[in-house]
Amino acid sequence: MTINGRPVIAADHFDVKNPATGDTVGRAPNSSKDHLDRAVEAAHAAFANWSKTSDAVRIQACQDIADKIGKHAEELAQLLTREQGKPLNGLGSRFEIGGAQAWAAHTASLSLPVKVLQDNEQGRVELHRKPMGVVGSITPWNWPVMIAVWHILPAVRSGNTVVIKPSPYTPLSTLRLVELMNQVLPPGVVNSVCSDDKTCNIGAAMSSHPGIRKIVFTGSINTGKAVMASAAETVKRLTLELGGNDAGIVLPDVDPKAIAEGLFWGAFINNGQTCAAMKRLYVHESVYDEVCVALTDYAKAIPVGHGSDEASVLGPINNRMQFDKVKRLVDAAKQKGRVLLGGEPGEGLFFPPTLIADLSHHDTLVTEEQFGPALPIIKYRDVEDAIRQANDSPNGLGGSVWSRDVEKAKQVASRMECGSVWINKHGAIQPNAPFGGVKSSGCGVEFGEEGLAEYTDIQVVFS
Ligand code: NAD
Repeated sequence: MTINGRPVIAADHFDVKNPATGDTVGRAPNSSKDHLDRAVEAAHAAFANWSKTSDAVRIQACQDIADKIGKHAEELAQLLTREQGKPLNGLGSRFEIGGAQAWAAHTASLSLPVKVLQDNEQGRVELHRKPMGVVGSITPWNWPVMIAVWHILPAVRSGNTVVIKPSPYTPLSTLRLVELMNQVLPPGVVNSVCSDDKTCNIGAAMSSHPGIRKIVFTGSINTGKAVMASAAETVKRLTLELGGNDAGIVLPDVDPKAIAEGLFWGAFINNGQTCAAMKRLYVHESVYDEVCVALTDYAKAIPVGHGSDEASVLGPINNRMQFDKVKRLVDAAKQKGRVLLGGEPGEGLFFPPTLIADLSHHDTLVTEEQFGPALPIIKYRDVEDAIRQANDSPNGLGGSVWSRDVEKAKQVASRMECGSVWINKHGAIQPNAPFGGVKSSGCGVEFGEEGLAEYTDIQVVFS
């Protein structure tokens, strides 16, 4: 852990396993409640000065963090591959670390200037944005370094201080990231704690901690609900980025071969372990067979292997719990649909890209978030039905429409109940565009000025 700028060693540790081999990558500290209290105290003490620093100082600090990530990119990517399983290449670890660096640099450039709401003979009214205090960040295991940057950088940029707790499946790259940040930040501005969720559930303790003003949480809907419930007692501010079950709708006018690559990566980026991956695909009956063939042809050429093998483009599933979930959903789907590709688990935690056609909207691979390398394909006749089925979900993170006619696609897109919608691609997020879910997929947004604003309190000054 890093608390108040110093390395802190816990009495107790847990092993972090490489999902490709089962080998131990390293040991992570099991923080106690006392460690959390010390981290929150350190963040509190640092807030007194950090909240008063100028924009110029904070911009420089964010830029210095981006430079640090850049200088240590290969080291971080190697560590990330070993604990997460994703390959170094393709849209894997090097891509994630490059994204983290770019996001840090972009966040440095954001600002929230004072807004003048009124300035006339009746008086002047100004809207100021003030830092809140200590922000608690709780992250998942799928894009751990990128998501840590998404949480920490806007907090620091807007004058807050942070205590972060990574997922027990992928803590090491985040703990290292925080060490690197502490080489360029004053002590206490960013602190890390860690736990295996068994000995002591530090995430739960953070959600109810009276010293934490805001929680930014990325993870599953169920844990998000628990965070929301325990945050109520201290009326914490919340940004919750939760699960998705994104639909893609393919309109009749597509060229199936031309969209196959985009469909594949929209669904299988990071082995499907991505919140805003396409998790169910609705295809018009007139192009259904051709889309199935084109997607299968593209998918069967994708090299799956150990992440550290430079030739791999997809790796294993990150952990046993997730593997079992994917297997359960695929086994059920095999009874109902037609397996176009994959369907049988490989060695250890490897599961090949799996395409299952002819499923109905009510099959579990369609209704549940699989969060893994298996895509259900559903045939539709009437686009109204496709829209209705896409919206018939408690989730509302992302969605996509595929068509040669962008205007027509946009009309369909505007009727989808989700926070982001893409035309002829899926899941492409960027640091200047707010990102968040509707319905059970969360509350609040990240990125852009709207995302930065979530780390501030409004104060209106009347003069
Ligand atoms: P998870 O909810 O199991 O865990 C997320 C984090 O919460 C981990 O750090 C975990 O240790 C911690 N935690 C566990 N119990 C807690 C408690 N009681 N209180 C507070 N924190 C607790 O999620 P996961 O399996 O790590 O991640 C996968 C899920 O995250 C998927 O549903 C995915 O869709 C979602 N996700 C969403 C986004 C988004 O931006 N919307 C991004 C990535 C992942």
